[in-house]
Amino acid sequence: MSQTMTIKKNSNIKLDFYPIEYLNPKHVFMPIMDGYKLKVKDNSYVFKESVLMYTDNNQKVLSPISGVVLGVKDMKYAGGKTIPSLVIENDFKESVKLKKSSKKYLEKYNLQDFSDLLIDMSLNNILEKLENKNDIILINGIEIDTYFANKYFYTMDHAEEILEVVDLMLELFNHKKAYIALLNNNADIINQFYNLMGTYPNIEIRLLNNTYGMGLDEVLCKNLDINPITFSVKEIMDVYKVLKKRKPILEKYITITGDAVKPRSVIKVRYGTLLSEAFINNFDFASNLVDVYLNGYIKGKKINSLNLVINDDIEGLYITKKEEKNTSGCINCGQCVKYCPMDLNPKFVLDKKGIVEDKYKDKCIDCGLCNYVCPSCINLRKLMSGKDEEEI
Ligand code: SF4
Ligand code: SF4
Repeated sequence: MSQTMTIKKNSNIKLDFYPIEYLNPKHVFMPIMDGYKLKVKDNSYVFKESVLMYTDNNQKVLSPISGVVLGVKDMKYAGGKTIPSLVIENDFKESVKLKKSSKKYLEKYNLQDFSDLLIDMSLNNILEKLENKNDIILINGIEIDTYFANKYFYTMDHAEEILEVVDLMLELFNHKKAYIALLNNNADIINQFYNLMGTYPNIEIRLLNNTYGMGLDEVLCKNLDINPITFSVKEIMDVYKVLKKRKPILEKYITITGDAVKPRSVIKVRYGTLLSEAFINNFDFASNLVDVYLNGYIKGKKINSLNLVINDDIEGLYITKKEEKNTSGCINCGQCVKYCPMDLNPKFVLDKKGIVEDKYKDKCIDCGLCNYVCPSCINLRKLMSGKDEEEI
């Protein structure tokens, strides 16, 4: 078991329940990661879903929009990274070069078809995980942040699709058992799964308490006492869409919420969209002075600019009225030690004046709970990371 914490939710912070869509950004920015070669030139026309860049071992980046390649520009990403990125200007035509026929029944896929299609649709990372030798796979259906609802929309009304894909994965890759982890307080979703479970003897539902930390893979695995291959419900639904529609995944959900933003909503966006563009066109600050946390209030980090490119590392924003936090000395309350889900002692690092042994650094999952519980507002997670500068 691993320590998690019951967070008292602000009952005034509720989401509007249907996701907004913002699928036509003016530009998209696609990061050119190490090892990738460009397949397109400046001023060339690209179709939606066409290959923009590729690696020698067949990994590809596909265009989320149709339009014109403007060139390469350094762009900021979550985690403080700056990466040269291909800039594409949208022509708003959604032109697609090739229409592939759809293959309706999942049971018709054999291992070769399945693997080829995932590579073709740029889901190599999911395929690599599946190829690991492990009897157990775990599907994480729990949000990182209690105010976020991205996974809700990947899960609600999709129990059948999730079960079908997980069952196919078990069969094709010879894994023995799958667990789907859900919060025990969402009766609608739980019932949808339970109504179908009889058909899937190798899949089990595991219900967990709604406490902070449970959405993090490491904490979830510790609580379930298993060492599986983990997938998020988004990854499973991505595979479903690829198998069923033979279309690449060009969009994702993110949540924008907090007490200082209106509306509060999940929004579907194209990969490569600037967070600032999606925000300005759909949301507004509800206070003159705000603090913006990328990826949640506890796990996330405060950011000063929304000029970040949306990729898999961005789950959402928590926006709150500006808070004055004055740091004071450690009062030895022991809260940071009590709540650390990885059984670390952040105060020990503080006593060592920030000198962190590697075994501590490697074990810390940067969950943010020690910062959250510290009454003296000491930035313990920053000390645990061993970095001088806070990442943006
Ligand atoms: S950020 Fe690291 S040290 Fe702090 S509670 Fe989380 S795992 Fe423990
Ligand atoms: S939570 Fe803060 S004040 Fe309490 S022991 Fe840890 S560092 Fe000290």
